[in-house]
Amino acid sequence: MSSNTASTALTKCIACGSSDLWKYLDLGAQPPSNDFPTMEAMHEERRYPLSVQLCRSCGLSQLTHLVPSSEIFSDYAYLASSSKPLREHYAVMVYDILKRFTPPEGSICLDVGANDGITLSAYPSGKFRTVGIEPSSAGKVAREKGFAIIDRFLDHEAVELLKEQYGQAHIITATNVLAHIPNLPKAVECVQACLHENGVFVAEFPYYIDTMEQLYFDTIYHEHVSYLTLTPLVKVLNKAGLRLFDAARVAFGASGPALRIYCCLAESPYQMTDGLKTLLDEEEAWGITRETQYKKFSSNVFSVKTELVRVIDCLIRKGQNVGVMSAPAKGNTLLNFCGLDRSKLVAVAENNARKIGHVTPGSHIPIVDDETFLAMKIDYALLLSWNYADFFLHHSEFAKRGGKFIIPLPQPHIVPT
Ligand SMILES: [Zn+2]
Repeated sequence: MSSNTASTALTKCIACGSSDLWKYLDLGAQPPSNDFPTMEAMHEERRYPLSVQLCRSCGLSQLTHLVPSSEIFSDYAYLASSSKPLREHYAVMVYDILKRFTPPEGSICLDVGANDGITLSAYPSGKFRTVGIEPSSAGKVAREKGFAIIDRFLDHEAVELLKEQYGQAHIITATNVLAHIPNLPKAVECVQACLHENGVFVAEFPYYIDTMEQLYFDTIYHEHVSYLTLTPLVKVLNKAGLRLFDAARVAFGASGPALRIYCCLAESPYQMTDGLKTLLDEEEAWGITRETQYKKFSSNVFSVKTELVRVIDCLIRKGQNVGVMSAPAKGNTLLNFCGLDRSKLVAVAENNARKIGHVTPGSHIPIVDDETFLAMKIDYALLLSWNYADFFLHHSEFAKRGGKFIIPLPQPHIVPT
């Protein structure tokens, strides 16, 4: 672990460099949400401010403090392929991209932030030359599956390596990656440098307008440095010689509903779609650089906290046993912000072997396997993976045995009623 463990205050916008930053949401001091400690190590956790500020110049929301990357990636427990719905989602995404843009056989298809190879594995085998960029330990898993992985962050060295060893890419994908990158302009420059003249860059991320409207504030955690909308992105992309030509909402993504964007080189012939024009107009009408909507969002987030704590306290007072279903990174923002810890929630059920036997960061709730959880006679489970609510309701053994779920967002409620 690096000796540098202090956070860095962001005093200039990571997209446009402006100092006109305004903090509007404070979620308290929290440990990195992907670092699930053991019982022995849990008291050594470091906490960092988790607050969001708006750049009133370009409209980008971003954290007020950066956590050192050594704190985030040192014990990275997230393997995307462990989720079947996510595997299916990326399979459909790759199918749609190949159908729409028909890259020639043998083209380079690059996935930035390849994780364990979830998106690369969606390409038909042998038809394209797939390569991933992945600095975390998840990249080792991808390599073991046989994927070519450049083992570093997306930087100029990674671009040179790609160009030397493979060439420029016809398709570049980056799902749930852009928001993680502290130097957004540099990353976008790197994408531009990797992109073939006829190439397309497709990125997917939680759409921050929807995050705010639906109160999905649990997608705010230290790993996510910025909270993306189209207006600030257009400026960053254009400056790097890229052009946004299409965008669309997708109902399902790694952290809930997402936005998918399509970009090409500035001089490429792709026409801007009506769908993109509409979204940009909507952002302007919504007030992307003005304070009003952000104040409303912050106030609503605190209302959800009050209500969720009330619902859980009420169940506990009635003698009900309350646990937690699944331990995604985003769930930790919710638990820590709401002060929900092991004094109220007895255990978390999780099927990721790398998390079982550990505790949730900050809230220190023991993580157990499904069987142990079922044996604990838990009546209600707070569902942190609320984006998989349908799956859990219809397929989990907990639900089949009569267990009920507390869905925290957008408004806390219990299902089945
Ligand atoms: Zn800015």
